[in-house]
Amino acid sequence: MSQTSDTAPPRAVVIGAGFGGLALAIRLQAGGYQTTLLEKRDKPGGRAYVYEDQGFVFDAGPTVITDPSALEELFTLAGRSMADYVDLLPVAPFYRLCWEDAAPFDYVNDQAELERQIAERHPPDVAGYRRFLEYSQAVFKEGYIKLGAVPFLSFRDMVRAGPQLARLQAWRSVYGMVSRFVEDEHLRQVLSFHSLLVGGNPFATSSIYTLIHALEREWGVWFPRGGTGALVQGMVRLFEDLGGTLELNAAVQNIDLAEGKARSVTLLDGRRLAADAVASNADVVHTYATLMGQSSRGQSEARRLTGKRFSMSLFVIYFGLDRPPPDGMAHHTVCFGPRYRELIEEIFAADELADDFSLYLHAPCVTDPSLAPPGGSAHYVLAPVPHLGNAPIDWDREGPRYRDRILDYLEAHYIPGLRAHLVTCRTFTPHDFRDELNAHLGSAFSLEPILTQSAWFRPHNRDAEVDNLYLVGAGTHPGAGVPGVIGSAKATAGLMLESLTREPSAS
Ligand SMILES: Cc1cc2nc3c(=O)[nH]c(=O)nc-3n(C[C@H](O)[C@H](O)[C@H](O)COP(=O)(O)OP(=O)(O)OC[C@H]3O[C@@H](n4cnc5c(N)ncnc54)[C@H](O)[C@@H]3O)c2cc1C
Repeated sequence: MSQTSDTAPPRAVVIGAGFGGLALAIRLQAGGYQTTLLEKRDKPGGRAYVYEDQGFVFDAGPTVITDPSALEELFTLAGRSMADYVDLLPVAPFYRLCWEDAAPFDYVNDQAELERQIAERHPPDVAGYRRFLEYSQAVFKEGYIKLGAVPFLSFRDMVRAGPQLARLQAWRSVYGMVSRFVEDEHLRQVLSFHSLLVGGNPFATSSIYTLIHALEREWGVWFPRGGTGALVQGMVRLFEDLGGTLELNAAVQNIDLAEGKARSVTLLDGRRLAADAVASNADVVHTYATLMGQSSRGQSEARRLTGKRFSMSLFVIYFGLDRPPPDGMAHHTVCFGPRYRELIEEIFAADELADDFSLYLHAPCVTDPSLAPPGGSAHYVLAPVPHLGNAPIDWDREGPRYRDRILDYLEAHYIPGLRAHLVTCRTFTPHDFRDELNAHLGSAFSLEPILTQSAWFRPHNRDAEVDNLYLVGAGTHPGAGVPGVIGSAKATAGLMLESLTREPSAS
């Protein structure tokens, strides 16, 4: 590893200030690297960007914050207290699940209340739910606590995990496994929709993803005061307090390789930053195809990756109302449409938009009214839609129509008088995932988290050939979701910090 002088600290460049990039930059800066974080957009956060329109604050992406201990760890390892930077508020119920043909289900962290609601629907499922919870707790211990932040660099690591994966029947799908425990179709949806939150099809994704249920029951669901953007800002402040440098509007154009090492990065504005180690939080295909497209390594890895399966995209509408959220509305509502399995199959494989949709509705003012002007409320609603590789939809034409259909549906079923109270409205389409975030095919969650694209089978936290080039974020192990990418930062930082002790002064 080359260093500027005997005393200068090693320099790391992290490309992209999503949650993964930020968490990695904090760990590197705290661990001895002089770290520069380069972000192409005008604000940090990546998928957790923030829009501000007419006094409304809209978190663009993650709103369900789980595993606060992983966030806390970033502050404590730097000798700080998270409470001095961010205030996490508990959310209850965790989610409200609604159907057109059944009463809502409040998913709460209270065993007796959960069992009461389950018994109301289908009494035999109470015992089934207890057994499901035990199963998901076992997966959570194996898959998250033990392996969630361990880099799978060699096939040996995968072989070592094999017996546990087999014991937990990881070859089954999430929905398939849930169905072994509960019989009621609505309850099966309650216990299987979670994998969609990290881009996984419940009918194809490994049952390992049932661990999300245990993770939420163990540590709760939280929302930062001031919105997810306040958590991003808290992490930026921590990074800068530690002496790190964040540059916004700093798109990287190329990772410069020489003699098998990453030597520097070249920015779109022509500047070149020398580095002893480079980590990319940008989309994995963008990283190899574009940022390393001039090298044979970049070209071959890009070819390999473009043959993989990618998660669906999302269509998101951010809207502000001049009235509070409707009485009794939950912070998080999942609005199931008339079809479940068939709709999901179309979202993951069809070449056009389905006529119906299932929605996630965010009403953050239920927890924190400060996100809207007095008396108003900020919301977003999202619909999972096929990615651009499956359905090359012209979103400039289709977007306004789709927006209107979704707003009409919300007005009819969830927010009476929505249109009359609408103050502001903006959308984010698969084109925006592609163009704003450099996301391959406009995927919202990167590589689909199926078993054959997980752990060792996922792009590794360290490149196999360029040994001072690293990946962090949704496209590497363990995968998408805030806890996932925070875990990936731990795995990647472990490798990068270890390399300092291995090669303290090599040139
Ligand atoms: C609408 C939505 C809702 C979600 N809800 C939840 C939720 O409730 N809970 C949850 O846990 N997860 C949720 N997720 C998933 C979660 O947000 C993501 O998996 C996670 O935030 C991705 O983080 P990341 O570190 O991979 O980086 P990203 O957020 O993908 O950030 C990557 C960054 O790299 C930058 N970049 C790209 N190319 C370059 C370049 N050439 N030069 C410089 N910078 C570049 C991008 O601008 C971006 O800022 C949601 C996702 C979406 C889209």
